[in-house]
Amino acid sequence: MKTTTLRRSKRIKESLESQQVKKSDAKLAKTTPASNSQISESQSKYAAGNQAYLQQMTEIPLDTLHEILRHLDPMDLLNLSWANKNLNALIMERSARYIWKESFERLYASDIPPPQCPEELNLAQYARFLFHMTCMVCNKGTSNKVSWRMRLRVCLKCLDGHLFARTNDFKHEYPTISAHYVTYYLVADMQNGTQKSFDERITSLARRAEGETVFQAWEKRHLEDLKDLAGVDRQNAILAKLEDLGWKESEIIEMYGGGFPADLAGFWVRRKLTDADWRKIRPKILSQLKAKRKQVIEKKIRMHFPNRLQKFREKFDEWTKTQTMSPILLPHPHDIVVMEPFRSIVFDSYAETAEFKLDDIDRLAKEWIESRNKFIFSLLPIHLQERYRTTDFLSGEPLSRLVFFKRGNRLRLRKLLEGQYFYCKRSDLQPADHQIFQMLPDPSPWNWSKELVEFGYEFTGVFGSTDHW
Ligand SMILES: [Zn+2]
Repeated sequence: MKTTTLRRSKRIKESLESQQVKKSDAKLAKTTPASNSQISESQSKYAAGNQAYLQQMTEIPLDTLHEILRHLDPMDLLNLSWANKNLNALIMERSARYIWKESFERLYASDIPPPQCPEELNLAQYARFLFHMTCMVCNKGTSNKVSWRMRLRVCLKCLDGHLFARTNDFKHEYPTISAHYVTYYLVADMQNGTQKSFDERITSLARRAEGETVFQAWEKRHLEDLKDLAGVDRQNAILAKLEDLGWKESEIIEMYGGGFPADLAGFWVRRKLTDADWRKIRPKILSQLKAKRKQVIEKKIRMHFPNRLQKFREKFDEWTKTQTMSPILLPHPHDIVVMEPFRSIVFDSYAETAEFKLDDIDRLAKEWIESRNKFIFSLLPIHLQERYRTTDFLSGEPLSRLVFFKRGNRLRLRKLLEGQYFYCKRSDLQPADHQIFQMLPDPSPWNWSKELVEFGYEFTGVFGSTDHW
């Protein structure tokens, strides 16, 4: 196969040389390296990493290779021709011209076609002008200006170089290119122009201007398409980075009901994602996703929450019926449901329904009663504490005889418990408790913890006992 390649290369070289001679415009030959077998460093980067594969391509039988190339767009043909010398020779040789022609026929038949190839350019040169956005003079600058009349893309740096001149004369006689309100001419155009009459210069310029509006419409659309492509690349880059951070694309899509939200930070920008970009949007995007995930979880939890709570109440009622203590001294279902294991089952699950054990309720309710009684005992004046210390205060009997004063009115404990005069300082709650508090309908549990419990604002807090009066 090697010898074939060599043989071909030689033939191709000859054909390339004959092409070079034909070039009428020396200036353009200089600025269109696509037609040159010398492949610049910036161009060969398009194939970086694929060299071995691309090298193998040239070993494919010519017919087959042509068949493959026939399906490529002009820009693909151009990039491939820059991949290595063999491919360049193959794509640029005379026998491959029909491939370019077919490729351009498809382009001309598209929605917004570019103008027909100007006669002084070959199709490879035209493709380079149309599709390759780097400067055609230095092959590096990307922030270029474009002139249809010059068939040239050029960077600002080169515009200020020796090939161009700034002048306000000859405005209607030579092709111009404008940047920052300055008009530039090609020095060569003006030098050639001095040998022509004014009329010839005007005619020449008019010929160059043909197709300009078509070109401008095409260029506008092409730039938008490029931006769209950059946008897709950016979105893929962002999604890959999010996946590294544990956010699967499928989860994000599901969270937002089948797509990405319009306000996802930096996601819809049509620009390549740079490291600086990512550093800027990363915290925003992560906080958005976390907030959304929390919202979705809460929604799922709340969906069947009333049913799970109802199931608990039913079981709790069952337990209440087995108790001999005065019902007013028994805990409320909400006092117990906020404790584990019920808490997780009712407040932290997506389940449609839930099962509860009477034993668990019994154990926790008794713990609660004991802790409530201790708490009330701790509130008693010293002389009452001493009196009850030897008695079974916690049995409920002395407890129910306690009398409180509320703005001068006597109030039995049972009344106090009924009226929810004990209340919980919500501002001191942990966020998780706060959320549970919001989910529960009234009355709220009061025994979150002793530290958090206070008396209602109406209570003046002087204790007595019916034993005294
Ligand atoms: Zn340049």
